[in-house]
Amino acid sequence: MKNYDSAKRILVTGGGGFLGSHLCEHLLELGHEVLCVDNFYTGRRSNIAHLLSHPRFEILRHDICFPLYVEVDEIYNLACPASPVHYQFDPIQTTKTSVHGAINMLGLAKRLRIKILQASTSEVYGDPTIHPQTEDYWGNVNPIGVRSCYDEGKRCAETLFFDYNRQCGLKIKVARIFNTYGPRMHPNDGRVVSNFIVQALKNENITIFGSGNQTRSFCYVDDLIEGLIKLMDSNDNFTGPVNLGNADESTILSLARKIIELTESQSKIVFHSLPDDDPRQRQPHLELAKKVLNWQPITSIDEGLRKTISYFRTLVKKPPQQETNIYTFRPQSSEGRISLIQSAKK
Ligand code: NAD
Ligand code: UDP
Repeated sequence: MKNYDSAKRILVTGGGGFLGSHLCEHLLELGHEVLCVDNFYTGRRSNIAHLLSHPRFEILRHDICFPLYVEVDEIYNLACPASPVHYQFDPIQTTKTSVHGAINMLGLAKRLRIKILQASTSEVYGDPTIHPQTEDYWGNVNPIGVRSCYDEGKRCAETLFFDYNRQCGLKIKVARIFNTYGPRMHPNDGRVVSNFIVQALKNENITIFGSGNQTRSFCYVDDLIEGLIKLMDSNDNFTGPVNLGNADESTILSLARKIIELTESQSKIVFHSLPDDDPRQRQPHLELAKKVLNWQPITSIDEGLRKTISYFRTLVKKPPQQETNIYTFRPQSSEGRISLIQSAKK
């Protein structure tokens, strides 16, 4: 614990998820009290099992689409499925979580007159026509495609944040998070890093969607969490939006090769068709975060992948745990994604 004097009671929505569980852990380490609110839609109790006996940690099962009456000093709003497979499973619920959830959390912040941070996303830039993406770029988003529930939901949430700021004087912080990876990603969530590592560890085919020439820039979770906390603690007149991520861009094909090498896997690379509206390139422009937050990522992709591989190595050896979220399927291809989404709905 480092900072008793300024200890706060902090609400983390989505605290049972990948990023949320790391955030809860870091906030507890800083001496804060943490109220984790989650409906375990995609999150897992195992992500926070080690925190349950912590005297300053509390958990509340709740869907943020409904109003929440609690007393806290700050809110981090992370609740929302984040992987394309998850957010496309029930797109209406995704939009509700982004929009109704934001309205409920903003209403709570307004009543309590407290600061609120929104976990927004690089997806607000859609399939970007400028590269790297700066915060003043308005994006290139399909409003009616399969990714729209997430992209437009998050864009609407940003609008709400800025309207509450202008209309009610609410203190807001908006982080545009780029692809982040690390321990506690859901092994079945279909995101590229978790998919490739699990496939490599099982010596199964590595499934590349499209040619593999599309790019992403991957940020290690510890770096990202440090950025979120620095943003929350930044000067009140800094609202963002601010990009948080790692500018080290790579193609999906080179990521696959790197993971095969680091896991010493026998896996072969196979190619499947590209899902609709899959962005061709993505790289954060990070100057604003560097200047205002004095923050930049420090974990190299090799170091981050090694830590993530070591997490998944332990996980794949364990018998699968029965947890009460609905995502137990494993997409193998873009066709597989669609059919699995359809069959999971039946
Ligand atoms: P995740 O799916 O692991 O975590 C999301 C959490 O929110 C889960 O625990 C889930 O159960 C919970 N949740 C979903 N709907 C809810 C609802 N209606 N009420 C209460 N809880 C609900 O995803 P993540 O990767 O940890 O992402 C966390 C946040 O960060 C999301 O808002 C996501 O959009 C944003 N983000 C993540 C990334 C990334 O690369 N991980 C990138 C951009 C933005
Ligand atoms: N991808 C892939 N194989 C997989 C999973 C994903 O080639 O098994 C691709 C996907 O089509 C996209 C990139 O990897 O181009 C990143 O996908 P992810 O779902 O992780 O994140 P997002 O598309 O939201 O950035």
